[in-house]
Amino acid sequence: MSSTVSDSDAELFAGLTLTGEPEVAALRAAVRGVVLEPGDPGWDAARGAFNLVIDQRPRLIAIPADAADVAAVLRFADLSGLRVAPQRTGHNAAPLGSLDRTILLRTDALREVRIDASRRRALVGAGAKWADVVPRASELGLAALHGSTPDVSVVGYTLGGGLGWYARALGLACNSVTGIQVVTPGAEPRWVDPDVEPELFWALRGGGGNFGVVTAIEFVLYPVAEVYAGVLFFPWERSSEVLHAWERWTRTVPDEMTSVGRILQFPPFEEIPEPLRGKSFVLVEGVFLGDEEAGARLIEPLRALGPVLDTFAMVAPAGIAELHMDPPTPSPYQGESQVLADLTPEAVDRFVAATGPGSGSPLVSAEIRHLGGELDRVRPGSGALSRMPGSYIFFGVGMTPVPESVPPVHRALAAAKESLAELASGQYLNFVETAVDAAELFPADAYARLRAVRAGVDPRGVVKANHEIRVAEAGN
Ligand SMILES: Cc1cc2nc3c(=O)[nH]c(=O)nc-3n(C[C@H](O)[C@H](O)[C@H](O)COP(=O)(O)OP(=O)(O)OC[C@H]3O[C@@H](n4cnc5c(N)ncnc54)[C@H](O)[C@@H]3O)c2cc1C
Repeated sequence: MSSTVSDSDAELFAGLTLTGEPEVAALRAAVRGVVLEPGDPGWDAARGAFNLVIDQRPRLIAIPADAADVAAVLRFADLSGLRVAPQRTGHNAAPLGSLDRTILLRTDALREVRIDASRRRALVGAGAKWADVVPRASELGLAALHGSTPDVSVVGYTLGGGLGWYARALGLACNSVTGIQVVTPGAEPRWVDPDVEPELFWALRGGGGNFGVVTAIEFVLYPVAEVYAGVLFFPWERSSEVLHAWERWTRTVPDEMTSVGRILQFPPFEEIPEPLRGKSFVLVEGVFLGDEEAGARLIEPLRALGPVLDTFAMVAPAGIAELHMDPPTPSPYQGESQVLADLTPEAVDRFVAATGPGSGSPLVSAEIRHLGGELDRVRPGSGALSRMPGSYIFFGVGMTPVPESVPPVHRALAAAKESLAELASGQYLNFVETAVDAAELFPADAYARLRAVRAGVDPRGVVKANHEIRVAEAGN
């Protein structure tokens, strides 16, 4: 695992000044893709993040055309004293902080998707989003372990774990990965899997984007022709009753049912359909890996509460891509999350008091996802995130289109989190949207192991991840 700059690199970027301004012309000459400086046409579009609150101002932007370009960008950065932040959508750009001395490496052009139905495998480029994969797999009777929005990159989502709609039955997406093409600083693109560099392969599956730039990822697809899935909408005045019923119900369901209890206040935006626009609800969303008869029997206790809208039906895997109604276009928002050891009736009361009717909460969404099942089982050969550290997870989001909306949203997120604080049992990297010490995201032994892997592949810390695992110091 060499990470030193070789003689040929020095030749490639001959004349590069190691201090002072990076010689962008040398990088442009070395890559097939695009290199942008501030003010270049396309600069503003390329520096944008999904979260419109984030104003990214990198030193340069590189949009590699292939893995060889990625290697060249990393070499150039290392020689120039710059860092490289890989990014696709900027869905989790907030924790990155200043990009002053950083090349923002957009993976947008690496969008190839290959599906091998006979082997039930997908091999996708780092630029592919779930929207590029899920419908194609679905047509072949196959399902991938995607999450609640089709708009995140498969790679970014999976490197951080990947908590999706089949999670209680099939686990985290990172633990269905079979191989990864990665470029580490000072090295050529290479393939890692359980047999080739198993330690790096372990770290990449749940340790986030700390170990190089991933250019492609291969993972298992599951044979799923249809699922029983949908949403039960209730008037939000019934938040307490419905969330209590949902909490009790989660104790009874098999692993094949993954569900969410949620308070949703739709903003008055035109793109939201009329019956929902500007209205508030308490919801139960669910996906059941099974047939209609068994699914309907399972949700009967919740259906008996009398929802105002019930969308549960048998659908192909592609039909659940937008079940969670995440915003399809870039938006300004703040989010908070917390993994919970358990959920108690008292905690439900406090949560509803903080986010439901009468709370004055401006949060668009305050949800609790049911974990457990396969998410709680550690399997041999799993990655750095081998299990979720709790039985439920809270995620809250508030829209912050203007500066004045930030303080009330912060207060509401803090109140929602506080309402569940006594059950807090950990953090989940993908849902953490603020800068935290990455040590908080992993058990101590896993974190020490992750630091050692990082020291082996990126000792100078060239790669800048949103949740950075510090390079282990000698003897540490
Ligand atoms: C609306 C919404 C819904 C979501 N739903 C879910 C969900 O259901 N389940 C879930 O688990 N998560 C979910 N997430 C969280 C999401 O998975 C993370 O934000 C994830 O990091 C997004 O990946 P991205 O590449 O699209 O984002 P980016 O912000 O582009 O990337 C995030 C980080 O991933 C790393 N990264 C990305 N690409 C590469 C690469 N090629 N090589 C190395 N590192 C890379 C980098 O460290 C980067 O900073 C959701 C987020 C949002 C905003």
